[in-house]
Amino acid sequence: MISLSLSLNQPVSSLKGVGAKRAELFAKLGAASLKDLLHLYPRDYQDWSSPLPIAEAPLDTLCVIRAQVVAAPSVAFAPGSRLIIRITATDGESDVKLTFFNNRYIPNLLLPGHVYLFRGKLSKFRGAWAMTAPDFTAESPSVGIVPVYPSTQGLSSRVIAQAVRAVLATLPEALEDSLPLSLREEHQLCHLGYALENIHFPRSQGDLDIARRRLVFEEFLILQLGLMQIKSGRQEQNLHPIPNCFPEAFARLLPFQLTGAQQRAITQGVSDMAGPAPMNRLVQGDVGSGKTAVAAAFCWSVIRSGWQAALMAPTEILAGQHYQSLSALLEPAGVRCALLTGSVSAAGHRKLLEQLEAGEIDLAIGTHALISEKVKFRDLGLVITDEQHRFGVNQRVALAQKGASPHLLVMSATPIPRTLALMAYGDMDVSVLDELPPGRQEIETYLIDPGKRRRAFGYIQKHLDEGRQGYLICPLIEEDDSGMMSVEAYAKTVEQAFPSAAVGVLHGKMKPGEKDAVMARFSSGEIQLLVSTTVVEVGVDVPNAAIMLIENAERYGLSQLHQLRGRIGRGEHKSTCILICASAAPETLERLRLFKSTRDGFAIADADLKLRGPGDFFGQRQHGLPQMKIANIAMDMDLLREAQKCAARLFRSNALAQPEYAALRQEIQQLFGKAGDERLTI
Ligand code: ADP
Ligand code: MG
Repeated sequence: MISLSLSLNQPVSSLKGVGAKRAELFAKLGAASLKDLLHLYPRDYQDWSSPLPIAEAPLDTLCVIRAQVVAAPSVAFAPGSRLIIRITATDGESDVKLTFFNNRYIPNLLLPGHVYLFRGKLSKFRGAWAMTAPDFTAESPSVGIVPVYPSTQGLSSRVIAQAVRAVLATLPEALEDSLPLSLREEHQLCHLGYALENIHFPRSQGDLDIARRRLVFEEFLILQLGLMQIKSGRQEQNLHPIPNCFPEAFARLLPFQLTGAQQRAITQGVSDMAGPAPMNRLVQGDVGSGKTAVAAAFCWSVIRSGWQAALMAPTEILAGQHYQSLSALLEPAGVRCALLTGSVSAAGHRKLLEQLEAGEIDLAIGTHALISEKVKFRDLGLVITDEQHRFGVNQRVALAQKGASPHLLVMSATPIPRTLALMAYGDMDVSVLDELPPGRQEIETYLIDPGKRRRAFGYIQKHLDEGRQGYLICPLIEEDDSGMMSVEAYAKTVEQAFPSAAVGVLHGKMKPGEKDAVMARFSSGEIQLLVSTTVVEVGVDVPNAAIMLIENAERYGLSQLHQLRGRIGRGEHKSTCILICASAAPETLERLRLFKSTRDGFAIADADLKLRGPGDFFGQRQHGLPQMKIANIAMDMDLLREAQKCAARLFRSNALAQPEYAALRQEIQQLFGKAGDERLTI
């Protein structure tokens, strides 16, 4: 057993036929060791296992047929010295005409009288079947489902398959399984050896499904267990209990009536904080649903009971806005607020830090500057993170560690699909703000092609004339050869098109101070048109901005577009969002039409998840969580739920401490170790 694990830790170069150079290519694909190679899963499969009779195969769909080559191929030259090779083959009932281009080896590869499998799309023209440039292989009993690996220049899928086969051949019958037998039986999971064998070289679709199920389950289980262990670092006892009653006095401070959804969320949170364990809650609410008021209610309650609260936002702009609105609301009620960002002057900063530590400040609002070691609280009772998807798990944990198990509130404006919330936030309770405050203005959304830009500009001018402001969003900072404009170049175009308007420019490469200055001038109305990249996406609130034009809308995920669009429709003015789409691809247009038709962030997020996969929501960059190798969060929801239940049970019963779980423990350690943060190490 020991020698086995040693051997799987060997580098891929220990395989025959893999030299240093090839090993480098393997490493590039994430397979440095033999073990990694076993977990380099195919990204797709070609199923050759069940060829269809020509007459029964579907048209214009990838399929496999079995046919005998009738005669030697005809070879012709088309204009441009393109080589065209035509072959007729038959399955005994029907004939098919096969056409290949520019491959002079075809006549040597497809011999008259021999039977081959052809994989391609069939078409039918004037009663004759045809297939253009199909893949083919000689018929043999071993042809089945062929793995397609994520290959790279110089390392083909076929070579990877050979290497994987070689490693699989060295695996002993009794390969140690990271999941104990009892667990596998309970969840109907196959043995690891079988799973590895069949994820790479399945004998049938059924075998592949069985293998995949096991591997996906394990991946989810490891992730969930890891997250639970992180969370369990926290104390379970509520050290900051508050009275369990709705904060009526707070509600009276507000210039508006709370929506039903806001009231529900507040009631839920208050009852958490009055309960035996600290609050651990996610408030999900679409852009503009009024999360800040909910957060303020919690701050008020905790501060009333004598503790401090901290609110962390991802950008200085956003932190500044929160500071403004919260201090305006709460300071009249005696709550002492402070803003802590990277740009606070050193002297002012020191004073703030002293006051914070002395408990003379009740509510600290800031960026990740709040996590800085120097920041200390007297008794931090509540930690809030806004726009949580921008922070890693580790940052959330770091802020919470500034207090003795404070209540936790996470606010997310990106309506993360339920499944993802389940995954990223594990055992958090969730409140959804599914109701917008009354009186919200409609946003009209139009989808146009670049040819209509001039008309769109005319429309914008009309709004400017009426005193409104607008955003013009453009995707790239630097000029590139894809035909898209840089922000600077675009700003010039805009200045020419709107000679009487004050145009400002905002992009991510500007210094925070510069960005703030531009935003401030836009806020005050000094700038009428803001040309910007997606940096305006997060939380910025300028109610007079009623129009937005988005260039190259095809470049964005729907959720990102939704965030952008959420910058308008915030005031009393009817708002308009114009998408310029340079692509005519049907899927793109379908996506954008869906976006045009709804303002429901959750519907948009779910569509995005299905269409683009979880990367947008769930990339390592945004969550600080490790990347999934095989599990697809959008497709494998049921398994995720099952794995999560299983993880919770294992965790509660402390089963992981058993020797039979040693291997799994190690996997968890490794996965989170790789995320590169010692805080995540268990
Ligand atoms: P988000 O959920 O996007 O963070 P905010 O908390 O910034 O939304 O609220 C958006 C705007 O709506 C703010 O100007 C806020 O004052 C206002 N608002 C919040 N709740 C209500 C309400 N119940 N009635 C009217 N206006 C509200
Ligand atoms: Mg907000």
